[in-house]
Amino acid sequence: MKDLPARRLLLVHAHPDDESINNGATMARYAAEGAHVALVTCTLGEEGEVIPPDLAHLAADREGGLGDHRVGELAAAMRELGVTDHRFLGGPGRFRDSGMTGTEQNHRPGAFWAADVDDAAGHLVGVIRSLRPQVLVTYDPDGGYGHPDHIQAHRVAMRAADLAADPAYDAGAGAPHTVAKIYWNRVPRSVAEEGFARLRDTAPDAFPGIAPVDDVPGVVDDAVITTEIDGSAYASAKTAAMRAHTTQIAVDGPFFALSNDLGQPVFTTEYYELVRGAPGGDEGAREHDLFAGVPDAGLAPGART
Ligand SMILES: [Zn+2]
Repeated sequence: MKDLPARRLLLVHAHPDDESINNGATMARYAAEGAHVALVTCTLGEEGEVIPPDLAHLAADREGGLGDHRVGELAAAMRELGVTDHRFLGGPGRFRDSGMTGTEQNHRPGAFWAADVDDAAGHLVGVIRSLRPQVLVTYDPDGGYGHPDHIQAHRVAMRAADLAADPAYDAGAGAPHTVAKIYWNRVPRSVAEEGFARLRDTAPDAFPGIAPVDDVPGVVDDAVITTEIDGSAYASAKTAAMRAHTTQIAVDGPFFALSNDLGQPVFTTEYYELVRGAPGGDEGAREHDLFAGVPDAGLAPGART
């Protein structure tokens, strides 16, 4: 890439759909504002459960083919978000969905969970060194909720950021690059609780049940949150992107359910914990821009000075 936009954001996720659920509003907003938004998805999500009965045959324990189908769902979701740069770690199908914790799929050859972290990270170093993102978004060390592929995506993303910055690492993968800021996806407990209260009040019968607050990945005490991105102007893009993951997500207005049929709120303000790099903006206050304080990133359109 010869002419890199001033602001460059890289997101690393485990499966197609995680990006839209966690960061859809953020991705749509930064893409609309002219940032380069790049998504790296680590697996095809081959082990996902399938919601629509007419697509149930795609499941891994039936005819299979879900991974290929989800490549198309992800592409459709990215069109909704206005994101043109989306890739699979090491190429589509290089790493396979490891299934839920404790299943035999965890250790199958090719499973992402069974991959060597440095080897998998090596595939991401080339992406980081060519795109030169100032901001990286991924999961916390628990992967948000303990799914093996999410934990592994965290490890691989963090390791790749270190390796990309190391001049001694693989000169053939491009010039070293230090990612200025790394964020983990988070949801403040108060926001999660308000969202579920709204669901119980306004749409109690929309789903067969309502998920417990702690089903939401990355729920933490509000004090842990360093950054909130108001993507409410992109709420419809986010829900459209979630809807594009037809096999995985059932969307009903501002709420959705995964294959367990338990309703959850869609969050259009998305929250983060800055874990590497200096916070920008007013001291002690939450950031409202992932690029805040990044010297060469320029100002977001409409940003207050
Ligand atoms: Zn996932």
